[in-house]
Amino acid sequence: MNRVIAIDGPSGAGKSTVARAIGRALGFLHVDSGALYRIVTWQALRYGVDCGDETAVSALVERLKVTWRVCDGGVVCASDGEEPGEAIRQPEINAHVSPVSKVPAVRARVTAWLREMRQLGHLVVEGRDIGSVVFPDTPARFYLDADPEERARRRHLEEIGKGISQSRDAVLASLLKRDRIDSTRVNAPLRVADGACVIDSTAIPVEEVLRIMRDRLPPEWLPSLTPQP
Ligand code: C5P
Repeated sequence: MNRVIAIDGPSGAGKSTVARAIGRALGFLHVDSGALYRIVTWQALRYGVDCGDETAVSALVERLKVTWRVCDGGVVCASDGEEPGEAIRQPEINAHVSPVSKVPAVRARVTAWLREMRQLGHLVVEGRDIGSVVFPDTPARFYLDADPEERARRRHLEEIGKGISQSRDAVLASLLKRDRIDSTRVNAPLRVADGACVIDSTAIPVEEVLRIMRDRLPPEWLPSLTPQP
């Protein structure tokens, strides 16, 4: 069975940065589970489906065909043959993704896609319910957190880099709204998985976060040092 490192936590906590770095260091493929919820939301908006209508969203996700490919150490997803790129990172998707993610049929399908991806190789998967629901069997469960102001600052900088223009206050408001919906939903809410290692990244550099995580991984997962002749 391929190995999984689960990294959960709210938006802007730094999950993607550490997941990519760990993936590169250990040769694990990086999977961004939020991208799958965003793809479902993107398609709902494109097909004019009301994101608050659970029945309509369930019908959409049942017929959606999602595929993926390995690219540059990560897994890139497409739906109905089309890769969305930055289209799924837009404020409109941010505004609708949490209501869509609450729908049980959406969670069931995304969970099934993620479990199928395990056949690709060892994975480092970031999300909200990876250690608690999707891969509860993994010994490597982390919960990354940071103060909301700091998370909004990071997200805002990322958005500027992508050419998305909205104020930091708007980013903070959107992030807090998503946190609230994600952590209060009945089905697979954002929470610390049992036994997960909790790391607050507000005031520590990413190298320190990586060091803490590395110390918590099963030793046999770490690459062994081969002596030089
Ligand atoms: O990680 P990201 O911010 O891209 O996730 C977008 C949204 O997808 C989250 O706000 C949440 O509603 C949903 N999500 C989820 N479970 C996951 C990953 C993301 O519900 N494992």
